Amino acid sequence: MATPLTADRLLAALRAEGVTVVEHPGWRTRHRNHKGVWGPVNGVMIHHTVSSGSAASVALCRDGYASLPGPLCHGVIDKAGTVHLISAGRANHAGGGDPAVLARVVAEDYGDRPPAPRAHDGSAGAVDGNARFYGFECVNLGDGKDPWPAAQLEAIERASAAVCRAHGWSARSVIGHAEWSAAKIDPRGFTMPSMRTRVATRLTTTPGSLPKQPSKPSHPAKPTQPGKPTTPRYQPFPGASFFTARPSSPVITAMGRRLVAEGCGAYAVGPGPRWTEADRRSYAAWQRKLGFRGADADGRPGRTSWDALKVPYTAKNP
Ligand SMILES: [Zn+2]
Repeated sequence: MATPLTADRLLAALRAEGVTVVEHPGWRTRHRNHKGVWGPVNGVMIHHTVSSGSAASVALCRDGYASLPGPLCHGVIDKAGTVHLISAGRANHAGGGDPAVLARVVAEDYGDRPPAPRAHDGSAGAVDGNARFYGFECVNLGDGKDPWPAAQLEAIERASAAVCRAHGWSARSVIGHAEWSAAKIDPRGFTMPSMRTRVATRLTTTPGSLPKQPSKPSHPAKPTQPGKPTTPRYQPFPGASFFTARPSSPVITAMGRRLVAEGCGAYAVGPGPRWTEADRRSYAAWQRKLGFRGADADGRPGRTSWDALKVPYTAKNP
């Protein structure tokens, strides 16, 4: 469960990731929250606009049309790689989709692709994607011939990574509309596995540290080798007793950095390796952010909140 980013945090996350952003008037308060819930959010969805030209595409996505009122996304990504912000709330971009796909996106446990969607907007059992996904509409005719310039693909990568990083998600939280709804084909002209590989690579770096890439062909994700042991991405929960022993461990430092990144840091100095009262207060803020209250938000790490924090893998024996 993740609370949607505020307009300020969304903007800051995009800028920190090196995205060129244009704030269109009214974007902070343009939404469809009166038509349904916005959040908890679980991922990012990529679309193509079936339109051309930045200004016309932004106007289309901002205003929508009679049968589909705007905003139609949060940001429009044009061919020059500029992200045009038009909404910070619920937007009409995803429609209904497959609950099985949502479950796999939440778990971030699929391989190259999530399972093929069997539901679509209006079908029995479809779930409301407009509540659950940030949406980026990318300017392209969607005919499979209209090119995707390198700058535009890089902006898709950066914008997706920005949202993932802000929420502590992996690249598996980024899907295409066609991966959500059996009635959709977008985006067409590049593959989502290749885009997820790019986002995953970016998420291993410090924001903004990757140089701008010249046009480079994208490669599909490498299949993982079966049977080969891999280092886990995240530090497993070390157990409640680990913390009551007032440990000194690099895992505590890594945890503290994640708490700071989530806006929960209560550190005057640090974070450092020794478990302190500042760690406990920071962790309590994280538990409250997750929706825990009372004794469940006492700052003593538990498995659920620890797993949600996604502390990078640091040590085999914490
Ligand atoms: Zn779409």
